[in-house]
Formats: sequence, structure tokens, C-alpha cells
Amino acid sequence: MTFKDFNLHPQLVQGIESCGYETPTPVQEIVIPAILAGKDLIVSAQTGTGKSASFLLPVLNHIISHKHAHKVSALVVVPTRELAKQISQHIEAFSYFLDISFIAIYGGNDGKNFDIEKKALQMGVDIVVCTPGRLIAHLNLKYFDLNSLQYLVLDEADRMLDMGFQEDIAKIINTLPEKKQTLLFSATMPDRIRGLARKILKNPQEVNIAISKPPEKIIQKAYVVYENQKLKLVKHILKHSPFKCALIFCSRKQSVKELTYDLYKAKFKVAEIHSDLEQKQREDVLLGFSSGQIPILIATDIVSRGIDIDTIDLVINYDVPNDGEDYVHRIGRTARAEAEGVAITIISQKEQAAFAVIEKLLEKVITKEKVPSELGPAPEYNPIENSKPKPGKRFSPRRKPKTY
Ligand code: AMP
Repeated sequence: MTFKDFNLHPQLVQGIESCGYETPTPVQEIVIPAILAGKDLIVSAQTGTGKSASFLLPVLNHIISHKHAHKVSALVVVPTRELAKQISQHIEAFSYFLDISFIAIYGGNDGKNFDIEKKALQMGVDIVVCTPGRLIAHLNLKYFDLNSLQYLVLDEADRMLDMGFQEDIAKIINTLPEKKQTLLFSATMPDRIRGLARKILKNPQEVNIAISKPPEKIIQKAYVVYENQKLKLVKHILKHSPFKCALIFCSRKQSVKELTYDLYKAKFKVAEIHSDLEQKQREDVLLGFSSGQIPILIATDIVSRGIDIDTIDLVINYDVPNDGEDYVHRIGRTARAEAEGVAITIISQKEQAAFAVIEKLLEKVITKEKVPSELGPAPEYNPIENSKPKPGKRFSPRRKPKTY
């Protein structure tokens, strides 16, 4: 299947192609036709599945031919400003060859931005991507309305409810016209989301793109530590675990380089792999690792999907992966073929909430091992408490920008 099969506007297809997308992802194959057919949807899909394009492409396609001059046609409500920015970047890319206007509005910036947002809303903009609080601040001033809205998208709805946006969402929905298409996306489907869906969706189609689960034979464990205990712990694990081939993941290449240096100094036989290496260097490293010459490889997620080495019997997540998909791919590097494998995740205090999301997605509580006593006292695993913003600090988003 290609994007042409959806009968999208040719200039939209041009935009998709210039983003380098060749074939639709599974979620796009199901969601795009359903939205084009005018259905309300409740979609269970995680970040990384291509869910943003799955709602943006049909919405853009519709707006091109049903534009309401000076009115908002689509409203995309998201939990964080990072996601608002990310989605508006996607809109910018897809609509490069189209006459579409959009704005991302989110809190936490200065009054100057508020005025720019106000002007855009007053003049009329096709798509608004927003965080709930900031949109309400604009709606309260009553200089624009959403009477011509055709699409409401609630993205990462479970996270919005976790962050306490339920009332704000209800307020926003109360200002919207009855006749519109509503699309609800959520990584998980707790009862609260089902309840929200029952209230706001009309005869919805349900789409469930389940995350693949890791093989049962992988023994999954985790340690909960303070950030400054991570290095000591990884050294402890490497000294005391009976492994042949260990793959250690870090989310950033800078962390890969630092950890490689620290372990090398501690006399471990290690190598590193990330995007700063030339193709030939990467191949040499992988050859050394698969032949057993290098027993410990430290990597970014760049290799999590491609590597297929039967002898890897230990995977260590030096930090918590960005999402469930990355977790499954990382730990799936061990216990290949008939082999046994252990996957250990090291969780710092600020990563506890992200790890809890992964456990929720996998529907599995991963055993938290006792931190070795020589490392000193370790924190409790309390993801709810540790996800609360600290006084004087902004809520810190779950996802970090990636550099592989
Ligand atoms: P999302 O799940 O929307 O956050 O998308 C995850 C990543 O996949 C983003 O970097 C998208 O640009 C990319 N992506 C989405 N759909 C496709 C596709 N059909 N082909 C290639 N990349 C895609």
C-alpha cells in the first residue's frame, strides 16, 4: 500500500513524499481511511507508531477542500508544549505545498507570544494545536469562537488526564459545535479514558494497535537508584553477572561516550556504537562484538532494532527508554533464538514515572531488585510522587529529544 491509495490531494501526497514517507504504518493504514469516511475514532496507539500523521493527513486533506475562511477548522489538544511543537512541525512539513495556516499555542512563554496567538486566532487560522490551559485563557477573552470546527483531536488523552486536564478538556468541549468529528488517541485505555470516550464520541470505531510484548523467556528486572549511583551499579552488575555478551543502552550518544570511557577506565573490555561512527567503524565494532572479542557494547537506540546477535545474554538499560516500543526493541536484543536472556533497567528518580508508563503498556510489573548495600541507601519506587513537578520547577516532559 502507498499513500496514493488513500486518494489524497496530489499536493498533500507531494508533501508526504518530501518527508521521506514511502508506505503507511499499520496505524495509518487503518486510521486514515476511517477518518476520511467521517467516523469518530478511539485509537489505542503509542508514540512511534506514526499516529500523528494518521490524523493530520486526513484532516489536512479535508480542510483543503472545505476551508472556512477566518475560522478554525481543526483543534488538536495535547498535554505538553513539546508535543504541540512536534505536531505543528509535522503540519508544516505535510502542508508545504498547500495553502494551510496553523498555530501552536501553549503556556509557559511570555506575553508577546500571547499577543501573536491572539492575532492569529482573530484573523482566522485553519488548525490550532494547543495545550488545554492556554486555549482556555484565549477562549475566556471571547475574541474568537470555534463554531465552524470540523475536527477535534485529543492526543495522548491518558496523559492529559494523568496531568489533571479533565476539567479543562470538558470546558473546551462545551464551547465546540455539536456537529464535528472527534478523534481520541491514547497510549493506554484505562476506565477514565473509556468514560471520556463514551461522553464525547458518537458511535466510534475502535482501533487498537497493540504494542508487541517482549518474549516471556527474557528475565526482566530493574533497579531503582539515585542518578549518581548508576555508574557504580552498572559496574557491580558487570562484575557479578555471569554473562558472555552484554549490550548496554543509553538514550543519548553523549551518555554512550561517557559510559564507555568510565567503564574502560575501570578496566572493562568495552566498545561503543552510535551515529558519530562511520559505517565501516560500526561494522567493525559489531563484528568484534558478535565474535566475542568485545564482551560489552554500549549503544544508542540506533542498533536496538537491527542487531541480531544470538549470543547476547544480558541487556542493560542504563537509562529508561523513551517509550514502550523502544523498551521492547532494546530488551528483544537478548534471548534470541533458543538462548536465555536477562534485561535489567536502571531507573533514576526522575525516570520512575516513564518506567511506570512502560510497565502499564506491557501490563507487567517488573521486579525491582534490592540495590547492593555498598552503593548506600537507594530511593523508593514511587512513580506517582516522583512525577509531580517540584516547587519552582516546570513539569518536565517524559520524552527527551533524541540524538542517536
Ligand atoms: P509519531 O508516532 O506520530 O510520533 O511518529 C513517529 C515517527 O515516525 C515520526 O518521526 C514520524 O515522522 C515517523 N513516521 C510516521 N509515519 C511514517 C511513515 N509512514 N513512514 C516513515 N516514517 C513515518
